[in-house]
Amino acid sequence: MAAQTFGNYINGEWITEGRGTFENRNPANTDEVVGLFVKGTAADIDTAAAAAEAAFPAWSAMAGPARGNLLYKVADILDRNFESIAADMTREEGKTLPEAKGEVRRSINIFRYFGGEGSRLGGSIVPSERDRVHMFAFRKAIGVVGLVTPWNFPSAIPAWKIAPALICGNTLIVKPASVSPLSAWRIVEACHEAGIPKGVINFVCGSGGELGAALVNAKPLKAISFTGSCEIGNWIHTEASKRRLRIQLEMGGKNPTIVLNDADFNSAVENTVNASMFSTGQKCTATSRVIVEEGIYDKFVAAVVERTKKLKVGDGMKPGVDIGPAVDKGQLETNLKYIEIARKEGLEPLCGGKQLTGTGPNGEDLSKGYFFEPTVFADVTEAMTISQEEIFGPVLAIMKGKDFEDCLRIANNIPFGLSASVQTQNLSRVFEFIYRMEAGLLTVNLPSAGVEYQLPFGGTKDSSFGPKEQGPAAMEFYSDYKTVYLKY
Ligand code: NAP
Repeated sequence: MAAQTFGNYINGEWITEGRGTFENRNPANTDEVVGLFVKGTAADIDTAAAAAEAAFPAWSAMAGPARGNLLYKVADILDRNFESIAADMTREEGKTLPEAKGEVRRSINIFRYFGGEGSRLGGSIVPSERDRVHMFAFRKAIGVVGLVTPWNFPSAIPAWKIAPALICGNTLIVKPASVSPLSAWRIVEACHEAGIPKGVINFVCGSGGELGAALVNAKPLKAISFTGSCEIGNWIHTEASKRRLRIQLEMGGKNPTIVLNDADFNSAVENTVNASMFSTGQKCTATSRVIVEEGIYDKFVAAVVERTKKLKVGDGMKPGVDIGPAVDKGQLETNLKYIEIARKEGLEPLCGGKQLTGTGPNGEDLSKGYFFEPTVFADVTEAMTISQEEIFGPVLAIMKGKDFEDCLRIANNIPFGLSASVQTQNLSRVFEFIYRMEAGLLTVNLPSAGVEYQLPFGGTKDSSFGPKEQGPAAMEFYSDYKTVYLKY
């Protein structure tokens, strides 16, 4: 059966012809073409930006609860297509089907949550110092916003940008990652079906370099929200600053989990393996360094290796699989490159470290995909590359700390600051960690990865720039205050 062609969505129309296509292939079986996507151009971005600008006055003037009702409809449509959207995600990104289902459920919840914000878009009223002056401030939309998203959460990240942008009354252009555009496309399809007016949401996929430059320079654009690598985020920051665009960047990480002598041992092992290996280590909040207090170090290393060796790597569509493939050839090569770097620096993996090409747990031919063994290194020091650079694969660096202070110092000795976790029963150390750990997102006795949508999300240091995403904080980026002094 010929693969379906998915068009761009500009001014309420699906644009499917005349521009050529690129392939979206299944990383678990590269024989399978998941879909063909129409290559967007810089001219498409300009057309989309003009459409978004034209749609802005009516959309931003619509009552907030009415916009909210449309977001509820989007959530209902995603819910109705829940199974197929999750399966599409596994086929395009490689994460296991249960993980994909969890992500689609989260996208649905995000649309419902921000739909509710339509009735709550608040401001503030305070008493004036002057007689019979009524003063208040209210939130208003900012205009046309550009959203650029990565491949690793191909539904949730577009959802957590699109939903708050829309509920605040903005119009938008979304540019998804080229490796996994289908999940974002399914959200746009739901917006179309829900009856969101033409021009309010536009979708253009294709080369990040070409479309990114066009987006940052599109005249009507007022703000840009980006999630992805530091390299591209920093480029966007430089270019967008020249125009004084409002900028939000969520970028890389090298997230630590600290395990102290008094931790609940089994749950610390489970949380570490969960956070470092699941989703193939391709979560921005994944643990890639675990810093273990001396007293339990050897026992902890042995337990993590034993648990990691039990993980089943295979096609995420099949039952009983824990870890899917790397998202593409480039990511697989990055994983292998860091194994070689570690070897050159004197380390040998205690497990894993190789591409998998044999037969998977359900008889699948792993040589058809980008499968990689979950890998554990121990005795990693702060000077070694794998303790400093983001790999974005299932590669865990175990490091030793003398005591809590030393573990915390090692954890903070990094340019990144996205997420961090501590495993301990000691309340004082929990609070020391909470106040002194340099990261935007902290967990205690839980995996470092696995966030919800109701609270602010984002990092600090080189990981992030600008207002936080998700929860009530999302409204800060997507709206502005207007302040009124009224004499009566
Ligand atoms: P990426 O290579 O930076 O790409 C992200 C997005 O930017 C893609 O849509 C990409 O398009 C686009 N892009 C590429 N060049 C561009 C340019 N010059 N201007 C504008 N956009 C451009 O990142 P990725 O490989 O997709 O994602 C992995 C990275 O994302 C990791 O570093 C991870 O830590 C980070 N991440 C961070 C968070 C967080 O919340 N902090 C969450 C998830 C992921 P193409 O796909 O067409 O190249």
